Amino acid sequence: MRIIVILASAALLLLGAAGGEWKAEAQTTPDSARLAVDSTLAPPVAAPSNSPYRYRLRTVVLDAGHGGKDRGCAGVSAREADVALALVLALGKQIQDNMPEVKVIYTRKTNVFIELDERAAIANRNHADLFISIHCNAGPSQAHGTEVWTMGLHKTTANLGVAQRENAVILQEKDYQKRYDGFDPSSPQSHILFSLFQSAYITNSLRFAQRIDRQFRTSVNRSSRGVKQAGFIVLWKATMPAVLIEAGFLTNPAEERYLNNKANQTYMAAGIYRAFREYKRELEGGS
Ligand SMILES: [Zn+2]
Repeated sequence: MRIIVILASAALLLLGAAGGEWKAEAQTTPDSARLAVDSTLAPPVAAPSNSPYRYRLRTVVLDAGHGGKDRGCAGVSAREADVALALVLALGKQIQDNMPEVKVIYTRKTNVFIELDERAAIANRNHADLFISIHCNAGPSQAHGTEVWTMGLHKTTANLGVAQRENAVILQEKDYQKRYDGFDPSSPQSHILFSLFQSAYITNSLRFAQRIDRQFRTSVNRSSRGVKQAGFIVLWKATMPAVLIEAGFLTNPAEERYLNNKANQTYMAAGIYRAFREYKRELEGGS
């Protein structure tokens, strides 16, 4: 019985949070009454219809995967840590050039190692409104295409495999068992247990992920493997909508060549930037 009550409460909490998140952000008020709301301090509940508070997307954290002793996956010559950083810096520049009102924070701007939990902690400490982690994929040489991930339960073993590969870096961190509450990156059970984190932000994470995927498919003209869900440690403790982008497979010769080119990195970043602009406009009520 106690378990049923707990489960029912959890379900209500999730429903309430998911429903409230969108309503709260869709509030519109006259310009004179606009006040910035810190979406990360308060739970995402609906504000009353006469509320003077209006959502503004003010801070975005850009996270280049890997770095330092952790080079990530690799192609013949390109390394994931370098390509991810180039994409993140190109994206950050486009946001800063076009939206001076948005604060862009990088988890790293150089080739340094940063623990996975510290990346989300940077976003939380800065009360970010959105967290974007950029990576490159690895697989058989014929595998290709972009993927955009949000936190959630993996539906296939292949999806679990991507999360396991990205999560395996914690084995290179000191005291990883203490830092991650005994999380074992090789265990499917560990991934199932923590995949429900981020639930309060899943509606908006998916909304943003779908926009990125559409931009990749259309304006950037990349092959897409779609929007997917799995348990990524880097997204685990982020208290805001969060996505992880796999920009393509460095193990595929054509995609490695594409992703290792500065002009193409700018195109990819422009696709993510356009998705960011659409998402921001929608949440802010079309301003
Ligand atoms: Zn990665």
